[in-house]
Amino acid sequence: MSAFKTLDDLGDVTGKVALVRVDLNLPMNDGQVTDDTRIRAAAPTVLELAEKGAKVLLLAHFGRPKGERVSTQSLSMVVGAVEKVFGKEVMFVPEIAGDIVKQSVGILRAGDIAILENTRFWKGEEKNDPELVKAIAANADFYVNDAFSAAHRAHATTEGLSHVLPAYAGRSMQAELEALDKALGTPEKPVAAVVGGAKVSSKLDVLKHLVTQVDHLIIGGGMANTFLAAKGVDVGKSLCEHDLTGTANEILETADKSGCTVHLPYEVVVSKEFAANPPSLRTCNVHEVAADEMILDVGPLAVEALSDVLKTCRTLVWNGPLGAFETVPFDAATVALAKTAAALTREGSLVSVAGGGDTVAALNHAGVAGDFSYISTAGGAFLEWMEGKELPGVAALSA
Ligand code: ADP
Ligand code: MG
Repeated sequence: MSAFKTLDDLGDVTGKVALVRVDLNLPMNDGQVTDDTRIRAAAPTVLELAEKGAKVLLLAHFGRPKGERVSTQSLSMVVGAVEKVFGKEVMFVPEIAGDIVKQSVGILRAGDIAILENTRFWKGEEKNDPELVKAIAANADFYVNDAFSAAHRAHATTEGLSHVLPAYAGRSMQAELEALDKALGTPEKPVAAVVGGAKVSSKLDVLKHLVTQVDHLIIGGGMANTFLAAKGVDVGKSLCEHDLTGTANEILETADKSGCTVHLPYEVVVSKEFAANPPSLRTCNVHEVAADEMILDVGPLAVEALSDVLKTCRTLVWNGPLGAFETVPFDAATVALAKTAAALTREGSLVSVAGGGDTVAALNHAGVAGDFSYISTAGGAFLEWMEGKELPGVAALSA
């Protein structure tokens, strides 16, 4: 991992102005914040800077206003929720650059916090326009990026500012980078990856990268069906991308050459209809799926074999559920393997990192999210990291 500066590298910041990029793209309903996880993630960095006496200006985007002021997407809506989590008054500034920000900085005292307007109201944000970058930077002394979830975008406030101001990783960014490095950067071997979810097509680059990096690749979910079909298995009416069987075979060949063992389910849970506890539910060998049946989960014996694989590993990275976990009993394999991973992590024999919207939901459903070493809620940025891509926001911090 290339080196980046953290808040530990800050000198005396009393009265200095910090621009802090955070993730305030919060789930809202009727103007109310329905989940404050992202605010809580930003709190350590923001409060540490405030305690150190900086004037803290928060930068964040909300939704996709596409370079226009859209009143229903103003960050003024989140001020109340942010104040509640921070336990402090927070000022709102309806601009991100210019005189109004300058005047606001004049009003703020050391340790005060302000939220600037939705950065995506300005076209220059997504274009990483150097003029906008300069104008935003003009009102500040240094920049802190605490939004890993936006680091796969090279935007003015996620990448550009790092080049014109002294730049630091915030505490959430630092924790994420350290966890991801432990999982795929410089992991303890053997390393296992679990990749599941609906489709191969959405995770092709993830699979291609992982087979060159890990010792064991466990493939589950709907995407396993495409691999099974590639190997000549009749998957009935399962979700399957038949046009991608060639690609699946290429991935299997690369795995072979790289010394990566790929584990596909040999036993599956099937039914004729996709419903909770359907009457046609049964468990069978992967070669016994009937033409009118679909594979909806990995079978219990196959999961036991996968648990045994995890027991031989020191590191696990997980993206994607093993089955259609939203519908019982097709959550069983995901829940069982997640419990094994959690127990091994608790014992100290496994470093476990997981991410992905549905994956986080599935691990919460299994009641084990707290036992994993690290859970990433970064979505797109997490997937790009799993693809082995350099994230521009992270690269700029290390430049
Ligand atoms: P993530 O959001 O964690 O990256 P994905 O979005 O790739 O995960 O995949 C999650 C979805 O995959 C879930 O909605 C789940 O129901 C679906 N899925 C998993 N296994 C199957 C299967 N065998 N057949 C159909 N859908 C499946
Ligand atoms: Mg998803």
